[in-house]
Amino acid sequence: MIVTILDKKDSLLNKFISEIRDVSIQKDSMRFRKNIERIGEILAYELSQSLEYQSKVVTTPLGTKIVQVPKNDIVLCSILRAGLPLHNGLLNYFDDAENAFISAYRKHINDTEFEIKVEYFASPSLEGKTLILADPMLATGQSIISVFEGLKNHGTPKEIYLACVIGSTQAIELIKKHFPSTTKLWIATVDNKLNDKGYIIPGLGDAGDLAFGEKL
Ligand code: URA
Repeated sequence: MIVTILDKKDSLLNKFISEIRDVSIQKDSMRFRKNIERIGEILAYELSQSLEYQSKVVTTPLGTKIVQVPKNDIVLCSILRAGLPLHNGLLNYFDDAENAFISAYRKHINDTEFEIKVEYFASPSLEGKTLILADPMLATGQSIISVFEGLKNHGTPKEIYLACVIGSTQAIELIKKHFPSTTKLWIATVDNKLNDKGYIIPGLGDAGDLAFGEKL
């Protein structure tokens, strides 16, 4: 797996990451969603640099110009519900992508153990396409692995990108074993710890609740 961690370079991205983490700012859910969306746009721009490009002749009112444009057929796939703002950000830039939505949630067996339940599945064919699998919180890695397993009967993508906001080092090590070695992970930032409930430490808390409110 080819891993690119974006916060290693100083940029405006780090301000958006600091705001989604900051307990005094993240409670403004509109700002939280907007910041995740902005991070999605930055991830889209950064990963676009490793897509394939082709020449296109553009006619302006005063002449013609040959420009390089991406030639990939992209399918953007997100996990409900926390993935929605990240999906919006990616789709703002990959505006002609096809879209897939999958629901995955943690069904708790007890306080510290859970299994991932994948229920809703809506995806176009992935055959020969560029799959961008988005997951804002790559905590244990189990959700993205379950979703990838489920996607396997929708065709074989030509290439796979993973777009994430915060990940744990542990999840990155795990997913390396489950995705093809050519998979490219683009991630905004990485933390070193998980707590016994599978939350990233220091992370930001529950991304779904911060974006959309607490659930029962
Ligand atoms: N999901 C979240 O929203 N936060 C975590 O830290 C882990 C999973």
